[in-house]
Amino acid sequence: MEENKRRIAILGSTGSIGTQALDVISRHPDLFQVEMLSAGSNASLLIDQARKFNPNAVVICNKDKYAEVKAALDPLDIKVFAGVESAGELAGGSNVDIVLASMVGFSGLAPTISAIKKGKVIALANKETLVAAGSIVTRLAKESGSPILPVDSEHSAIFQCLQGERAQVEKLLLTASGGPFFNLPAEKFNDITVEQALNHPNWKMGSKVTIDSASMMNKGLEIMEAAWLFNIPAEKIEVVVHPQSIIHSMVQFSDGSVKAQIGHPDMRVPIQYALSYPYRIDLDTKRLSFADLRELTFFAPDLEKFPCLRIAYDSFKKGGNIPCAMNAANEVAVAAFLRGEIRFTQIPFVIEKTIEKCNFAASPSIEDIFATDTQAKIQAEEITRQIR
Ligand code: MG
Repeated sequence: MEENKRRIAILGSTGSIGTQALDVISRHPDLFQVEMLSAGSNASLLIDQARKFNPNAVVICNKDKYAEVKAALDPLDIKVFAGVESAGELAGGSNVDIVLASMVGFSGLAPTISAIKKGKVIALANKETLVAAGSIVTRLAKESGSPILPVDSEHSAIFQCLQGERAQVEKLLLTASGGPFFNLPAEKFNDITVEQALNHPNWKMGSKVTIDSASMMNKGLEIMEAAWLFNIPAEKIEVVVHPQSIIHSMVQFSDGSVKAQIGHPDMRVPIQYALSYPYRIDLDTKRLSFADLRELTFFAPDLEKFPCLRIAYDSFKKGGNIPCAMNAANEVAVAAFLRGEIRFTQIPFVIEKTIEKCNFAASPSIEDIFATDTQAKIQAEEITRQIR
């Protein structure tokens, strides 16, 4: 890699992706330097991270926690700010090379846009950014010359398969683990508990994406993410259920060749690849033993058992602000499910009802997107109250 260290800002440093990114960075202090850390409201972990990585600045988005963070870091000459606006501003600062966008949900959109406007390299983990505002985000990135490098494991796999290719892509094959309920009979879906849904068979992730994986909404969001990242229509993106999560996704070319990126499922691999791109650097993750693996299996997704996947396909086809409304309703429904207020099977119900009530905007502005998110969340909360 180049001689100068890459200077990194992390949006969402205390989450699952943020903490794993810091693990990667801590193993390569000669290559990476942390410039800025921002967290939602986990003040104590943010303080620990700042003490360890000595960034130039930290941001605590929850303003109520500012005094606590400020008091702890004052003696260390680390600047402390509060509020999500500060996170976006600092991520776009001249001392930052790469911004890891790893906030959860729609909240990641505004700071990511700020960094894109300043032409930063974006390592994108926050798929909701592209789901809600794909056309705006990709246009802004083109204008500012901001490269968007995928951190999502499937999209990193596709990105890796595309390296060195000048060929026509015929199809993207997006693999899905199927989540914990792939083999559960449809009639048992009503009794799914929060604990069962949080128990993902292969990947260790935050609670929002884990529930999305269980409902397969995650794969729906990822179809949209792939369509925007790789500029390919959704009809050319096929979901393949692959319970072992060894193949992380594939690309089929016009000569019938299929390239796959495979490995032990460990989110540090795609995180590190986005930070070190176009180089590959060492990682002490588990190596595959093909003799132990013995077999890899594949299935078509079941859209009856997993209506969220069908809703996502339909929403993306409708386009405009509908994917934004879908995403907003999903965030509300998942949070309500996690609080034990609605059943697992009511998640798609809340989303569909919210979409029905959304005022369609065919080519929304960024203001329209923020308004749609707010409106859809109010609607979804109302629907959730009515059914619980
Ligand atoms: Mg993924």
